[in-house]
Amino acid sequence: DVRVAMTAEREGQGARRKRIIAVGSGKGGVGKSTVSANLAVALARAGHKVGLVDADIYGPSQARLLGTEGQRPVARDKKLIPVESRWGVSVLSMAHLAEPGQAIAWRGPMAGNALVQMLEGDWTGVDVLIVDLPPGTGDIQLTMLQRFKPDGAVIVSTPQDLALLDATRAIALFDKGGVPVIGLVENMAGYVCPHCGETSDPFGIGGAQAAAEERGCPFLGRIPLDISIRRESDEGVPPAAGDGPRAPAFAAIAAGVTA
Ligand code: ADP
Repeated sequence: DVRVAMTAEREGQGARRKRIIAVGSGKGGVGKSTVSANLAVALARAGHKVGLVDADIYGPSQARLLGTEGQRPVARDKKLIPVESRWGVSVLSMAHLAEPGQAIAWRGPMAGNALVQMLEGDWTGVDVLIVDLPPGTGDIQLTMLQRFKPDGAVIVSTPQDLALLDATRAIALFDKGGVPVIGLVENMAGYVCPHCGETSDPFGIGGAQAAAEERGCPFLGRIPLDISIRRESDEGVPPAAGDGPRAPAFAAIAAGVTA
């Protein structure tokens, strides 16, 4: 019976409901976008069907990070079809919607509209949707969290940012929005020597983990400051995609996020 089969198919799709995971930070420049991209790639490597929305409207970086610059999404049935990266992650970013090389100087309502269109894109089949939030903890972030309520949130912070309590504000933002905090990723933790590859820890290790857990936020892992991360990111090859030294750390973080 065709009708039974169709109903079963619809129910099957419903059963694989997509989880929305927001990635936020207390301030900019801590590596939130880098962690979002590599978390998405690591989840795809672990067998998930992953989508990524670059909600950083005025400073989109996901097209560069995932190597999808120059690709343009098409629309079908008024829904944007995400762009496919080489890493098994489909993506929508303002970088794909704005004219290449043009500054994004849109007014608030237009930018908000673009964000809604990306979140309401055709994410059929995707079981994890990562949302790279704009930096900071303002009203825009809260409105977005309330309208497209994520199932959980990941906070990215540097050791210094934790000490300065910026990360605490990010935790508070998600608490206020009623979004469970899955955990904290400590980025730029320790320094990898580009010559010998050894990691040194000028500020000691363990402080961030303790500080996070003190605030009731589980610890997901740490990524050192490593020139190869910046270099590969700039080339559109996420370190989580290869067999380099950073891939296992991102795989472990991905496992913690879906545990
Ligand atoms: P945010 O999204 O928080 O503004 P980005 O992800 O854009 O931060 O990172 C800011 C800069 O720092 C980028 O040039 C990026 O390549 C670099 N970066 C991020 N994390 C690391 C790291 N662990 N090691 C080296 N460079 C990093």
